[in-house]
Amino acid sequence: LDKSPAAPVLKVALPLPLDRLFDYAAPEIGRGWIGCRVSVPFGHRRLVGVVAAVGAADSEPTRIKAILQRLDAQPLISGELLQTLRWVAGYYHHPLGEVLATALPGPLRGTRPLPQVGETWLLLSATGRRALAEGAARRGSRLAALLARLGEGAQPAAALDMELPGWRDSARLPRARAWFDWREGAMAASADAAAVAGPALNEEQAAALAAVSAAIGSYRGFLLDGVTGSGKTEIYLGAIAQVLAGGRQALVLVPEIALTPQLLRRFRERLPGRVMALHSALADGERARVWLAAARGEAGVVLGTRSAVFTPLPNAGLIVVDEEHDAAFKQADALRYSARDLALVRGRALAVPVLLGSATPSLESLANAEAGRLQRLLLPRRAGAARPPSVRVLDTRGQRLQDGLAPELIDALASRVERREQMLVFRNRRGFAPLLACRACGWHAECERCDAAYTLHRQSRRLHCHHCDRERPVPEACPSCGSHELKPLGHGTERLEESLAQRFPGIPVIRIDRDSTRRRGALDEKLDAARSGDACILVGTQMLAKGHDLPEVTLVAVLNADAGLMRADYRAAERLAQLVIQVAGRAGRADKPGQVMLQTLQPDHPLLHTLLSGGYPAFAREELALRRATGLPPYVHHALVRAEAPDMVALRSFLQAARECAPASAGVQLHGPMPAPSERRAGRWRMQILLESSSRPDLQGLLGEWMPRLRALPQGRRVRWSLDVDPLEAD
Ligand code: ADP
Ligand code: ZN
Ligand code: ZN
Repeated sequence: LDKSPAAPVLKVALPLPLDRLFDYAAPEIGRGWIGCRVSVPFGHRRLVGVVAAVGAADSEPTRIKAILQRLDAQPLISGELLQTLRWVAGYYHHPLGEVLATALPGPLRGTRPLPQVGETWLLLSATGRRALAEGAARRGSRLAALLARLGEGAQPAAALDMELPGWRDSARLPRARAWFDWREGAMAASADAAAVAGPALNEEQAAALAAVSAAIGSYRGFLLDGVTGSGKTEIYLGAIAQVLAGGRQALVLVPEIALTPQLLRRFRERLPGRVMALHSALADGERARVWLAAARGEAGVVLGTRSAVFTPLPNAGLIVVDEEHDAAFKQADALRYSARDLALVRGRALAVPVLLGSATPSLESLANAEAGRLQRLLLPRRAGAARPPSVRVLDTRGQRLQDGLAPELIDALASRVERREQMLVFRNRRGFAPLLACRACGWHAECERCDAAYTLHRQSRRLHCHHCDRERPVPEACPSCGSHELKPLGHGTERLEESLAQRFPGIPVIRIDRDSTRRRGALDEKLDAARSGDACILVGTQMLAKGHDLPEVTLVAVLNADAGLMRADYRAAERLAQLVIQVAGRAGRADKPGQVMLQTLQPDHPLLHTLLSGGYPAFAREELALRRATGLPPYVHHALVRAEAPDMVALRSFLQAARECAPASAGVQLHGPMPAPSERRAGRWRMQILLESSSRPDLQGLLGEWMPRLRALPQGRRVRWSLDVDPLEAD
């Protein structure tokens, strides 16, 4: 081993909260090491890291240790992905080693051998068969041999490895890429299954698809802004089919909750043998298998949730982000990345179009469209013959509600029960009641560690804090005055389910929320029951608002439509508008138009007014103007340093020191330290410093200088702190 000072070393990113690379020695160091995993000694431990660079040593030559083992002969993380992950580390000011660990599926973070990628098959596409017939490959070339071999039928890739070494390079030649179809082993049988044909596109859909098709082969960002049921998914499917026909890969991201077996089935019927799913419910080994299949260019379509944005795409052709407004695309802890934003970053690096779709686009994306950074494609009508639902506001001020429902709503439900139709009652609060209070003295149950009310869950006979997950038994008597008159106040989904079942016996009430769908497969069973078309009342939280097609529903009731508006968070209005439109969008078919009822204490609220008279576009215009006028995102950029500690003094002293060591920057304002919106959670005090700038480079520049100083603060050892760039929650 060459340990002379001039010898190059491996610069290894290790999964540690330290923002630096580590030098290690190895034989024959060259660029071929970059992107390979190595196991290395680190103190008394043994860690697996990724070689991020090779170069001159920063450490003293005598202190450089040798790696223990090279784990990959070929780079596991290559070219564009490594470059993007470096960008992520820089933008979110997060150590590269931890970014890499976030991107890699669990089994690939260890030293065990790579999981077996299921048997992969190669076969000729239609253009490949033509190429063979026309003798398009030079006679005697490896490509011609490959064409001829596949002319006899599909071949397992492993068999080709033996017979025609180097065939993988031939199959990836740009001009030949479209001649071949890769199929996963289990899918190989279905590979020849005919694709189910989609509906003929209407005029607007055809125009949208044409715009995307024209962009294939280069970067372009699109905002596909189409009302629920307008046929956005058909555009995705059409564009993906074109990309596959060109021998390239497509990545489709959806929010966790929207990735149902129904969606997967729809994709698989339309693109038989080509679709692999990647989401958190998969076993680790399965995730790794899909990831590796993508890395080898063998997975045609990867349909996944947030973390699938880190899928390697050596043959990338298209990236789709469905329901792009959904907050689930932003990771809420550790590496706080936005998969939606990263999709655009990757699209640019890979030179492929990126399609962001939503019925209620985020204000960020609308502003990007306004500024010309995204091309907006509009689908203003429902596809097929479905008509938009009509909306009524129910003013509940001074009304006597029964079980939380206005009389007019009860009548509307009753008439549909009579007609054996489907209804949906939306209430964004799970549990039985949001409050358990004493009638005698006014005491109410409050979490000792959060300064937040306990929610009463009657089925589990527990008080549950939705902030810290703490649970305790329901008290028999008031702990303050001893009275037995403890009364649940307000209505959660559990209570609504119970009261609706009592009021309308003989019609099933199906509750869909986090509690009722904990068991794997439960959500799909419930949705299947609804899709059967039989009469029922669905009761649920925002789980019901996301991406589920429920065409048989003829009435959607939204209770406490204004609850979000009481919150201090400036995004509350946007969230509420999206929620109302998304829930409303679940209803109605051609022959059964939907009715939406919003029950509210603030019928005159300007937001509801704009939303109802002008729809989401009008709301978004007004809200964007307001954000611009008041200097809020997306017109300024935020970063948030959050800190928490059981000891308030330690917390304050850290944030004070943090503030004092912040570099001065004319373009960036610092606010705080100030208490977080929920000031105590799980027994810890919480405070934050907000950074604000109209210039991303200024903000990034400041963070780049400040973060190393923050990490070095001795006061930081007694608190838990983190940085959130482009935070979604003020909390
Ligand atoms: P979105 O993704 O915008 O919510 P979908 O693509 O799921 O909309 O389409 C909603 C429904 O309309 C689906 O049942 C779909 O099969 C149907 N649909 C879509 N486009 C058409 C069309 N051009 N003609 C007839 N039906 C269509
Ligand atoms: Zn009491
Ligand atoms: Zn709590």
